[in-house]
Amino acid sequence: MSKSKPDLSRLDPATRLVAAGRDYAEHGFVNPAVYHGSTVLFPTAQSLHDRSQTYVYGRRGTPTSRAVEEAVALVEGGHNAKMLPSGLSAISTALLAFLKSGDHLLMVDTVYQPARHFCDGLLKGLGIETTYYDPLVGRAIAALVRPNTRVVYCESPGSQTMEVQDISAIADAAHRAGAIVMIDNTWSAGHYFKAFDHGCDISIQAGTKYLVGHSDAMMGTVTCNAETWPAFKEAYESMGQFAGADDMYLTLRGIHTLDVRLERHMKNACKVAEWLRGRDEVETVLYPALSNAPGHALWKRDFKGASGLFSVVLKPCSGIAADAFLDRLSLFGMGWSWGGFESLAIPFRPQRSATAWTAPGPCFRFHIGLESPDDLISDLGEGFAALRSQP
Ligand SMILES: *Cc1c(COP(=O)(O)O)cnc(C)c1O
Repeated sequence: MSKSKPDLSRLDPATRLVAAGRDYAEHGFVNPAVYHGSTVLFPTAQSLHDRSQTYVYGRRGTPTSRAVEEAVALVEGGHNAKMLPSGLSAISTALLAFLKSGDHLLMVDTVYQPARHFCDGLLKGLGIETTYYDPLVGRAIAALVRPNTRVVYCESPGSQTMEVQDISAIADAAHRAGAIVMIDNTWSAGHYFKAFDHGCDISIQAGTKYLVGHSDAMMGTVTCNAETWPAFKEAYESMGQFAGADDMYLTLRGIHTLDVRLERHMKNACKVAEWLRGRDEVETVLYPALSNAPGHALWKRDFKGASGLFSVVLKPCSGIAADAFLDRLSLFGMGWSWGGFESLAIPFRPQRSATAWTAPGPCFRFHIGLESPDDLISDLGEGFAALRSQP
């Protein structure tokens, strides 16, 4: 007799994340081993001829990759998942898997900027046309779908400006027209937004952010439903995609603590965002979890929680004053990426083509980490003092 195994499908998401991928652990260890491997040996010529073993070659899967694939599919609630070397490679591989010359892509105007670069460069060169659409389009996306539209791509909330999309309405219209729906689900980490329950066919994440959670690895994840899985898997394998063993392990490790980390990111971010909203220097706080914030109603309808990333539009002030604010902060680092344990602040200027974005003053994006929110608030208070001391 050995101990019985939990039926994960019946358990709370927090419990599932603790159990995720653990079937691959051996010898009584809690965690699976990290397999570094290229060659996999076959015991007999016959077994080589018919490939009659679970693992055949490093790039084709290891116990480490299978463990994290299972875990990510469990987080997202999808059929199966694959790991890639970065979030951007996950986006580009997913798009290339479903688009060919002559096809049309509907891309949300608030998409992560390097993904826009990929569409306007490499995809365009392949003869794939991209039309950018208003993130708030909802059901009216139907009017933009063409006979050759293969993919409708969403990102919600939108990069930087945090528009919440009506994914169910968009997916419904896309499916009616025979297109598939992909979403960049990085903000919710797949834990707070269940993309497949809202009609998405593919959910993509920069695992670099919350799944890894400690700013110490790059990772991309693509999770598919059963219908899109074979075509995506084929493209993934023929493009030779795979991710590094240690980075996959760090992703799996991050997943076990995702629920508790996100809960604290949200609690801290709500407190800091509320405080920012009360400041005279602030025009708007773009955080869908705040009551009355843009996108709050849709967020409340569709999301189970909010992560620690939001943006702020300041009232008009000089560039020198905005820089003085950033330079005075000591707990908020300044740099790209987010989703780690530490707080960040970065200025931004959105790139748009289908919609207009105007702000009266400078825009900052904050990632609220796991520090005490009171310490973060005093740090921001110092920043505002520096801002006000400038012309
Ligand atoms: C960071 C990010 C990506 C890209 O991830 P990398 O791992 O840096 O390539 C994609 N989408 C969103 C929303 C991101 O924030």
